[in-house]
Amino acid sequence: AELYGIPSWSGGWFRVNDKGHVDATPAPGLHATLRDVIDELVQERGESLPVILRFPQILAGRVRQLNEAFRKAIQEYGYTGNYQGVFPIKVNQRRMVVETIAQAGYDYAHGLEAGSKAELALCLAQDMHPNALLCCNGFKDDGFIKLALWGRTLGKNVVITIEKYSELDRILKQARALGVKPAIGVRFKLHARGSGMWEESGGDQAKFGLNAYELLRVVERLREEDMLDSLVMLHTHIGSQITDIRRVKVAVREATQVYAGLVADGVPLKYLNVGGGLGVDYDGSKTTFYVSTNYTMQEYASDIVYTVQETCKAREVAEPTIVSESGRALTAHHAVLIVPVVDVTGPTLDVQAIPPAQEGQHQVVTDMEEILGNISGRNYREMYNDAVGDKQTLHNLFDLGYVNLYDRARGEALFNAILRKVSRQLIGEKYVPDELEDLQKVLADKYICNFSLFQSLPDNWAIGALFPITPLSRLNEEPTRQGTLVDITCDSDGKIEKFIDLRDVKATLPLHALDGDPYYLGFFLMGAYQDVLGSAHNLFGKVSEAHVTARPGGKYHIDLFVRGQKARRMIESMGYEEAMLRESIQEQSAKARKGGTLDPLQEHELLEDYDEELLGYTYLEYENE
Ligand code: PLP
Repeated sequence: AELYGIPSWSGGWFRVNDKGHVDATPAPGLHATLRDVIDELVQERGESLPVILRFPQILAGRVRQLNEAFRKAIQEYGYTGNYQGVFPIKVNQRRMVVETIAQAGYDYAHGLEAGSKAELALCLAQDMHPNALLCCNGFKDDGFIKLALWGRTLGKNVVITIEKYSELDRILKQARALGVKPAIGVRFKLHARGSGMWEESGGDQAKFGLNAYELLRVVERLREEDMLDSLVMLHTHIGSQITDIRRVKVAVREATQVYAGLVADGVPLKYLNVGGGLGVDYDGSKTTFYVSTNYTMQEYASDIVYTVQETCKAREVAEPTIVSESGRALTAHHAVLIVPVVDVTGPTLDVQAIPPAQEGQHQVVTDMEEILGNISGRNYREMYNDAVGDKQTLHNLFDLGYVNLYDRARGEALFNAILRKVSRQLIGEKYVPDELEDLQKVLADKYICNFSLFQSLPDNWAIGALFPITPLSRLNEEPTRQGTLVDITCDSDGKIEKFIDLRDVKATLPLHALDGDPYYLGFFLMGAYQDVLGSAHNLFGKVSEAHVTARPGGKYHIDLFVRGQKARRMIESMGYEEAMLRESIQEQSAKARKGGTLDPLQEHELLEDYDEELLGYTYLEYENE
């Protein structure tokens, strides 16, 4: 558990049990052993992997945690306003996610945020507390605005956020046409910036928001229209995954100053929306590293409440209802991707016998032979570097025709034997010195995992986001191998060679040697953004999902299993029709039968196999994974 940092990043939602298996611990006294769930799915139900396990109890727990954190801060400071969160559904629009959050947040009047027409259509259909906010962000056309206004007539607390000045006219026009009084928010471009990966979302150059002058023009315009009371919310957002709490405080202070300024100017604002940004400590280091946060959820809530209160007191304005649009922090923990390791390769594993020396063997091969004989605990780094040089020479000489194919084969086999010997020296080293990181990577095994990085971990591929990865079992057993992970796409980018670490980033992941038993890896904290951003590279489709609820006594229940996308769906999404595919294969096979390459029985079997794959899972399917 320590090796993989589970206690540090799990937030208490996962643990290692005394048998060395990972448990989800979604509520006090309840746990579900992930390996048991997978064994049931694979062995009893015959389902294929990879699969995403979703824990609705964790989602609900996160919603409660966030709201209780603000409640506690509000009580502690005697803050006179409220807190009302909204969940930005772009983070994960899954029905199960949105419904669970809406239900768990009902009594807290936790609302939703939509950033597009489609998202708004989804949000409007969701049952929510009547006071719960429905914030409409993002660029808007007339259709978007109309839908939002209709939402108000349905009794929903819909607030339309102006992201750019010209949207105000559209809103006023549509409101007049429909005869509906709008509730308006304004997104303000803070000069304060976030920290970490999404720093550019804030600051003067941000994509969204109005500057101070534009904000004042909005106020003037609404005053002219005698609609100032429609302006209810000031909205800000300085980026997702803010790593440094000081940035939050600075931004909230600036936002509250703007809020107070508007209120002093006679605008009856009610809500101060501090946006998203509440981070997730993916590596458990509690630092300002880009996949971590140097604060807890409680500190985030307390600092916001305190800062708003302090500024409001100084400016003598009433304390607003604080709104946050926390998405990542609510959803990340609830989803775990489970992938089977299907094979392992690597220089230290691809064991070949070393072909015997031939007469007239080239000197460079003889040199490598000597290196192999001389490696010791003291000199292995030096020997490794010499061998790398010799291998390079071997290949150069081969290209020039001075080394024959036989010597090349023997030289390469010797080199691999050298790597194996060096790797044995490395096993004892707790921390590999920086200059040997490369060596460690070269020596690492490649664990081939049945998943697509592009479908399941798009943020890892696109922006280098790191997620905690651990084996699901054997955690009471010292791992003896160091590995990197490769996926099954035909893309050399489909690999993971950076892993979380409490002190730094690691080039390899400690893993167990395969022993004939299935070896499963869990990719944790996957519930935010990944499901939606994933892409269909190589036509690997959406992964199967199981919704799992923990029950007393270590029992669990699989509430729902949704099979992943079938091959035909993926092909159809590219403009093909299933019937057209079948027809083409039928035609070709009939022709082949007539031509004598297929007998009727084979033709029948071919068509059956083709059909089976069309209807099958897009990932590798082995018996007894
Ligand atoms: N609100 C807005 C306007 C956003 O752009 C985002 C995402 O970047 C969020 C909320 C969600 O942020 P987070 O997932 O960091 O809570």
